[in-house]
Amino acid sequence: MAFLELTDIHKTYEDAPLLCGVTFGVERGEIACLLGPSGSGKTTLLRIIAGLEAPERGTVSIEGADVTALPAHRRGVVLMFQDYALFPHRTVAQNIAFGLRMQRHARAAIAARVAEMLALTGLEDFADRDVNQLSGGERQRVALARSLAPQPRLLLLDEPLGALDRNLRERLLEELPVILRRVGVTAITVTHDQEEAFALSDRVVLLNGGRVVQTGRPETLYDHPHDAWVARFLGLENLFPARIRHPQQVEVAFGVLDMADNADAPPPGAEGQLLIHPWGVHLEAGPTNSFTAQVTQRTFHGSRFRLTLSVDGGSLHLDIPPGQTPPVPGETVHGWIEPAALRWLPA
Ligand code: ADP
Ligand code: MG
Repeated sequence: MAFLELTDIHKTYEDAPLLCGVTFGVERGEIACLLGPSGSGKTTLLRIIAGLEAPERGTVSIEGADVTALPAHRRGVVLMFQDYALFPHRTVAQNIAFGLRMQRHARAAIAARVAEMLALTGLEDFADRDVNQLSGGERQRVALARSLAPQPRLLLLDEPLGALDRNLRERLLEELPVILRRVGVTAITVTHDQEEAFALSDRVVLLNGGRVVQTGRPETLYDHPHDAWVARFLGLENLFPARIRHPQQVEVAFGVLDMADNADAPPPGAEGQLLIHPWGVHLEAGPTNSFTAQVTQRTFHGSRFRLTLSVDGGSLHLDIPPGQTPPVPGETVHGWIEPAALRWLPA
């Protein structure tokens, strides 16, 4: 049994089902990420795990014990809110000490733990600062230190980087998992942003329409999305209506393509979608899956150019590293597609 188990969680608001049978587990010490579009019930799920909200059906268990009916303060779970909810006009140290005071620890023990948390989050020089005088990134770190101070057995973080500007977000995206791993806490973060989910977590739980649609390591999800919705949500755009011709051949509007050996390919005649990973599209002569296309768009992204090609049945996107001169819109190009970059997705 996993450290945290959610089984068949149902929740309805105003007759509209929000969560319909959510089931997943999180292992001890793991950083899991609940990923899903806005409104998919992520915050509600965190509140249910924390005990701030009760499900209509289903159970939450932690370390093998059913906690569904246990009040929030007895679960050993801390929820870090999306807006951080720091206590205004208090110092950083006072904010971090809050949970420890609630637990009635001795003064000296509180001071020691606060010092430890200040060091962990790099806030040593900020202990006596009023939290209202801090930048967004500093406030985020205070919220994290305050959440970790009482040594929760499970830490829940609701969109922890949502309020930060881009540069800061990218830095904290690297910092946050390092801090969480250093303390070894089991954590669930929530985000609607797939890059954030990939960077932060060991495992992604993807939600849509009140259900878990796929769980797995970030690399696995990205490499093998279950269906076209998952692929699109993860930012994979090269999707074409397709039909299986032979076990290793698939027909799309712009041709018949060889697929790599695939044990679970459906039988000939099956209809679905073909995903083409952009890393497998090359603008050079190749051994198979040749195509001719027109460049329709070229966008500079700093570390790469993104090209959009028009082919029968849709658009093909690929990335060109800097240093190569990419073709311009209007140009006709020839290329090939690696069989290993093709994924069959059910309709
Ligand atoms: P997410 O965090 O994925 O954006 P939420 O868990 O906040 O999703 O909830 C999704 C929807 O559920 C909200 O848009 C709202 O319609 C509904 N909802 C959430 N909490 C409540 C509530 N306390 N009362 C009524 N409806 C709610
Ligand atoms: Mg939310």
